[in-house]
Amino acid sequence: MTDVHLNLIDGTWVPGDHLTENRNPSDLSDLIGRYAAATAADVDRAARAAAAALPAWQAKGPLARAELLDRIARRVDAEAEVIGRMLAREEGKILPEAIAEVRRAAQIFRFYGGEALRIAGEALASVRPGVDVTITREPLGVVGLITPWNFPAAIPAWKVAPALAYGNAVILKPAELVPGTAHHLARIIHEEGCPPGIFNLVMGPGSVVGRAMVDHPLIAGLSFTGSVPTGRAIALAGAATMKKLQLEMGGKNPMVVLDDADLDLAVAACLNGAFFSTGQRCTASSRLIVQAGVHDAFVARLTEAMLALRVGPALAEDSQIGPVVSAMQLRGNLDYVDLARAEGCTVIGGEALNGPTEGYFQRPALFLGAQNDMRVAREEIFGPCAAVIKVADFDEALSVANDTPFGLSAGICTASLKHARAFRQGARVGMVMVNLPTAGVDFHVPFGGTKGSSLGPREQGRHAAEFFTTMKTAYSFGG
Ligand code: ADP
Repeated sequence: MTDVHLNLIDGTWVPGDHLTENRNPSDLSDLIGRYAAATAADVDRAARAAAAALPAWQAKGPLARAELLDRIARRVDAEAEVIGRMLAREEGKILPEAIAEVRRAAQIFRFYGGEALRIAGEALASVRPGVDVTITREPLGVVGLITPWNFPAAIPAWKVAPALAYGNAVILKPAELVPGTAHHLARIIHEEGCPPGIFNLVMGPGSVVGRAMVDHPLIAGLSFTGSVPTGRAIALAGAATMKKLQLEMGGKNPMVVLDDADLDLAVAACLNGAFFSTGQRCTASSRLIVQAGVHDAFVARLTEAMLALRVGPALAEDSQIGPVVSAMQLRGNLDYVDLARAEGCTVIGGEALNGPTEGYFQRPALFLGAQNDMRVAREEIFGPCAAVIKVADFDEALSVANDTPFGLSAGICTASLKHARAFRQGARVGMVMVNLPTAGVDFHVPFGGTKGSSLGPREQGRHAAEFFTTMKTAYSFGG
């Protein structure tokens, strides 16, 4: 059966205990393939293989890792169109965005190929004469990586690449909805010569495979991106084996538009931030906080632009917004549209749409007249829906922006240096954007948030070393 895809454990492709269908959310008649769901015993085999393979791999030194990552980057780039098509088919991102995401994955592998050779330590004078003190970074060991469905190429890349660069062995579990892109990446990593056991792919349900990773005593660190409830469950369960944790969860990201903003720029930033990628980004702008003087003009312009967005199949050339990822997600989005009305908002758009094929299409939605204490302004929806909140001035805007359990990204559109500066300083988030969408980040600088959005060290850039390495302080006397 050519459409069956297996798990990679200890350098061998192995079946799990059942197969899961991967279907195209733009066209439910399109069966992409069947993917083997691993078991807890498979996770155990992968963890043992990883631990056993580590010493020989680490002995090869950083150049072997740098060269491997560079080869992977080249292959991902060379196959970007094929992988991008798979990504668009299984996740629903429009093809240009899907291919761009795969190219981003290649850039990330290339970046960490360089970082493998730049793992620096420190040497200090001791407080005791004759004693030398050095601080070095060592690999964490076997790391578990659990990824969500919304960036099937980029998120696995930004966890796998630093994990390998800093000398760890990896067990990757992609989200059940999008195993195809991760499987393709796994094949490349394997074929480019990653030693058996150093990279393992285990697919399947989070409640079984993910949970087995969280519980496994040989897995020293676990990096997760996903929802808040799952992150919380992992934090609690991970404590039992004293795992180092890196959790990236949700957002309810504010975008402030002040009266003095360049309106063209503000509308473009909000359109992109709120609705592109079908709003399925943890950095999406889901609260548009708009000053009273510009509110009506801004809403009129944004409404016009939003209703003009072409929603359609991910692979169709004229689509600007692809489908929602799954039936469950679409149902959740539509429930929030109903809730917005029930909470007193005027809703524009938001209805389910018929496409040329059977799929989960939804018109983007604006919830006008929202208050920041409404559920639609507090809970992450993870769909193409944005609440518009009117405020009197900058101080109120900043206070509303910060009044949220999340703290991932925040943006402001303004021509005022004073307000831009005050917002950069006052926003209680991990990433702040001035005259730019809340979504869309570079790959060589830290990514992550504060409050309920993140736990543990930042991802991406050289700061990823803080999670993927542990520090050793060495004292020596004599000689
Ligand atoms: P979403 O589906 O919205 O991306 P989830 O938090 O449900 O968010 O899933 C993110 C990842 O976490 C997926 O790979 C999923 O399979 C995995 N996962 C779900 N539940 C658990 C769990 N209890 N333990 C470990 N991983 C889990």
